Amino acid sequence: MNPPVFPLSGERALGRRAFVGSSLSFAAAALLSNTRLRAAARPSFSADPFSLGVASGDPTPDGVVLWTRLAPRPLEPGGGMRPEPVEVAWVVADDEALTRVVASGTAVANPAWGHSVHVEVSGLRPGRWYFYQFRAGGVESPKGRTRTMPAAGSLPDRLRFAFASCQNFESGHYTAYEHMAREELDLVVHLGDYIYEGSAQRGRPRLHNGGEIFTLDDYRLRYALYKSDPALRAAHAAAPWIVTWDDHELANNYAGDIPGKPASREEFLRRRAAAYQAYYEMMPLRRAQLPSGPDLLLFRSLDFGRLATFHVLDTRQYRTDQPQGDGRKPPSPELLDPRGTLLGERQRAWLDAGLERSAGTWNVLAQQVMMARVDLARGPEVLHSMDQWPGYEFERRRVVRHFRDRRVKNPVVITGDIHSNWANELVADFDRPDAPPVGVEFVGTSISSGGDGAIEPAFTKELMSENPFVKYRNNERGYVRCDVTPAAWRADFRTVPYVELPGAPINTRASFVVESGRPVVRRA
Ligand code: FE
Ligand code: CA
Repeated sequence: MNPPVFPLSGERALGRRAFVGSSLSFAAAALLSNTRLRAAARPSFSADPFSLGVASGDPTPDGVVLWTRLAPRPLEPGGGMRPEPVEVAWVVADDEALTRVVASGTAVANPAWGHSVHVEVSGLRPGRWYFYQFRAGGVESPKGRTRTMPAAGSLPDRLRFAFASCQNFESGHYTAYEHMAREELDLVVHLGDYIYEGSAQRGRPRLHNGGEIFTLDDYRLRYALYKSDPALRAAHAAAPWIVTWDDHELANNYAGDIPGKPASREEFLRRRAAAYQAYYEMMPLRRAQLPSGPDLLLFRSLDFGRLATFHVLDTRQYRTDQPQGDGRKPPSPELLDPRGTLLGERQRAWLDAGLERSAGTWNVLAQQVMMARVDLARGPEVLHSMDQWPGYEFERRRVVRHFRDRRVKNPVVITGDIHSNWANELVADFDRPDAPPVGVEFVGTSISSGGDGAIEPAFTKELMSENPFVKYRNNERGYVRCDVTPAAWRADFRTVPYVELPGAPINTRASFVVESGRPVVRRA
């Protein structure tokens, strides 16, 4: 194998434009041009600076984001880096040996952004596999594999992707990611709870580093701990990821800018800024997602040709406070208050317009909390959590009725958050559960959160008989693999029987199919 050719500086792409990607503001970039020579002088590292691995994400038909973050000592504040910018070279090639280089350049890893690198590569060809690698101070990163989206306007005959969520490091091993990394997937979608903010708990299979996290350094170190797991790094290196967050990337069940006790709003927004910056630093996101103080624009859409459009939602940053009450039928007047919102007005208008305009055969809402409203006369309180869409019943009805009234093509909601697998049909009015469904929802279980699970959780029979639109429920750990064609959507619930010990095998616990034009979930 020939080593890849790295340019000393500047940027180079074969007949195409390549961006020098970095997480810099223009002002910071200008400042850096002075330090570039010094930065380019070969840095030396006390250990492998690529300990956090590589990743790619948010593909388009002609490009993708490449990510890494330099951290020779990832579990120490500062990551073992001196507080200086460092130049990082990157290459993209057609082949795994990186001999046929199609794009290359350099980026600057800036200490203000945790020495993270976000390269927005362009000029690639649609619907193709690529391989990439970084180099800094003479050290090569692991290689990553990524894929561009199919050509705009084309109708691909197949999309294979997996979605995952909820990977509490303490709850168990990332065995599911070991298996996911071996699947042939065009994409991975992560629906949030990538980290958990809590302090170390005694007696868990693995331990968090330190107490509850509040500062930028705290969040960085928590992400670094999670990335110390080789299975997570392998899953990132195997395919491009589309990420969004839920609550634990900041704090349990937070809503917008409302502080948890006892913090003030100002303190909470400082914490939010720290959490959002660390998230950006650790994820393969575009410059459009660069945070500004406590704000980070995460809702966005991505097209897989005309086969699928991913509408990626953020149901945390803009939501109003969770209402009181248990959400049982009939909904209390508070739940029907039009001021209650999960999306916020701007995101909802964007979603409405995006769904109407979409050319996608399948319209995927990639989001966090369960949209189906299940009811159980006698059961655990968690089924009625006011943290989920039914806590925002007015807006939930608006979204589902929009599917119906605007004849949105094949809405498929994919959901994380509750550490269990569900297949649901979405009816416009859950007070008339026999009404015809207007969309479907697949809820994916956790990677590890909750520890070893059960094939059939308590109350499943009662729940399914009282809520006939629920077609499946399971709470083993794992992920959902989706095989999508113009004619049908197949969802395989891939589960591992345990995570508290390593090495579990994977199996397909259940499979469901939805035919295009018919929002009905049936067993495959
Ligand atoms: Fe979770
Ligand atoms: Ca959650």
